[in-house]
Amino acid sequence: MKIVVTVKLVPDPNAEKRIDPTTKRLVRTGVETVLNPYDEYALEAGLQLKERAGGDSRVTVFSMGSAALKETLRRALAMGADDALVLSDTALEGSDVWASAYAMAKALSTLEFDLLIVGGLTDDSSTGAVPGALAEHLGLPCITNARKIDVGDGKLEVERETDVGYQIVRGSLPVLITTALTFGEPRYASLKGIMGAKKKTIGTIGVSDLSLDLPVGTSGSKTELRSFAPPPARGKGRTVEAADGVAGATSIFEFLREKKFV
Ligand SMILES: Cc1cc2nc3c(=O)[nH]c(=O)nc-3n(C[C@H](O)[C@H](O)[C@H](O)COP(=O)(O)OP(=O)(O)OC[C@H]3O[C@@H](n4cnc5c(N)ncnc54)[C@H](O)[C@@H]3O)c2cc1C
Repeated sequence: MKIVVTVKLVPDPNAEKRIDPTTKRLVRTGVETVLNPYDEYALEAGLQLKERAGGDSRVTVFSMGSAALKETLRRALAMGADDALVLSDTALEGSDVWASAYAMAKALSTLEFDLLIVGGLTDDSSTGAVPGALAEHLGLPCITNARKIDVGDGKLEVERETDVGYQIVRGSLPVLITTALTFGEPRYASLKGIMGAKKKTIGTIGVSDLSLDLPVGTSGSKTELRSFAPPPARGKGRTVEAADGVAGATSIFEFLREKKFV
């Protein structure tokens, strides 16, 4: 079975984020870069499926972003992925979700796969719009929020997490699946994995390797960021002092009603 997992490289979630006032883009250099946390769950899913399928099953990691950061993907290779492919090109700078998903889909269509596993959300832009857009561009069915995936004889059964419970979805391959955070904790890279990752391939492709029919980058984007501002400083909180629980709950309810939350 051939599995591709998308992994975005994002600024460390604990690092302070800064927007460049000129480009109006998130500053991604000079801050520690990590694998997008959601994508580690997607990778864990891919690795478990590869182990279960055995044989010549492979997991390829795909990322679009700066080639200068691609060594960060060694961590995914150390966890057990077989190889990685990075789509990187200055022509992609300024791509919004529309343009990014289009370019990513074109690059992914150069790879052969049965399963495309995508994280549900990124830690930096957090739109959650990429998986659906990729499925649409690639003409794949999209099953979101999987907490369990079974593949056998080309048949697929996915247990999805929903707001009200669980849902079983059956289908066939190829398919795009996003993983829920309840899929299972991502594994740590072993020392053997870290050593082995040094020899694994991280390939790079650019825009000229893709047959694009539409523009990408700023000119291919449909979103324009006109202005931005830091959130207003937090005001002083209100302390509610109440004689008992009922009076306290009533005060909190009145406060929420005043703010139009209820
Ligand atoms: C006007 C504008 C200009 C922008 N310019 C830039 C820019 O110059 N540089 C820049 O880095 N960003 C830029 N962005 C942000 C960029 O468009 C988004 O980061 C990108 O579209 C992905 O969206 P998301 O992070 O919300 O993904 P989500 O939809 O939240 O991601 C869901 C999943 O999709 C996969 N995925 C998403 N993005 C990638 C990726 N790049 N590689 C691999 N897998 C991925 C991951 O598995 C992830 O878990 C810009 C945005 C706007 C609006």
